[in-house]
Amino acid sequence: MDLGIAGKWALVCGASRGLGLGCAQALVEEGVHLVVNARQPQALAAAVAHLHARGAAAAQARGSQAAVPRVLAVAADITTPEGREAVWAQPGGPGRDFDIVVTNAGGPPTGDFRDWDRAAWIRAVDANMLTPIELIKATVDGMAARGFGRIVNITSSAVKAPIDILGLSNGARTGLTGFVAGLARSPLAAQGVTLNNLLPGKFATDRLQATFAAAAHKSGQSPEAVAQSQLGQIPARRYGTPQEFGALCAFLCSVQAGYVNGQNLLADGGAYPGTF
Ligand code: NAD
Repeated sequence: MDLGIAGKWALVCGASRGLGLGCAQALVEEGVHLVVNARQPQALAAAVAHLHARGAAAAQARGSQAAVPRVLAVAADITTPEGREAVWAQPGGPGRDFDIVVTNAGGPPTGDFRDWDRAAWIRAVDANMLTPIELIKATVDGMAARGFGRIVNITSSAVKAPIDILGLSNGARTGLTGFVAGLARSPLAAQGVTLNNLLPGKFATDRLQATFAAAAHKSGQSPEAVAQSQLGQIPARRYGTPQEFGALCAFLCSVQAGYVNGQNLLADGGAYPGTF
């Protein structure tokens, strides 16, 4: 299926690895020009080379007329005003005129709420609530003026089913979810702009390994034992892949998904036990 977004510009944050890279790959394979962001220049450069190759191969497969999408990199901390300014100022990029924005950054640390002070909460809220809101604020009015826009926030299954050691994530991301629910129903909806959240369950990324290590530390088990026992709680009996997460993201960004708005799409191999 042609998703109808070739030639559009997407910003994908936290895209040097994991779920962000999966989203960037799926979009570039659709012919979408990318600005990708992460903090480490070297890891980001490797991701850009990979994405450029995937975009070129997909363009070749589509036929000789298909343009090879551009892939630009901004190595910066997206949770800072300076990092976001660097994205808007990227030479050769679209400024703030992105058609698609995928918000993402590292998740907050695990731990016990008794150990989190105000500064820890502010960091979590900044990274996982206020940064997506700033990115949305900078781009949605331009999207509305052009009649097309897609915001996809990578949040977490913890928004639907909180995880005890991830209290910072449970709290900060739920704040973002409430904000997005309101904005999605605003006049932007009649101007071609959709805002949706993608909720990963357990996907095989570095972040998941870190979560296993933290749970192992708390329970006294080995990280391998934690990984094995958590697998038993997923009806699919496997962890998700960044590629399948990216495909969901690309679909939410598609022309075909124009009537999907204000939703929280859970991808967790059936782990959430509720009917809805
Ligand atoms: P990851 O750690 O594998 O990758 C995170 C990416 O974000 C990397 O490219 C990293 O460089 C980048 N990044 C981190 N902080 C950044 C910052 N301040 N500015 C710019 N880039 C930054 O993580 P992942 O597994 O891909 O997870 C992505 C998001 O989804 C995280 O917020 C995570 O908490 C959440 N999540 C993941 C899972 C999972 O199973 N993997 C489950 C639930 C929620």
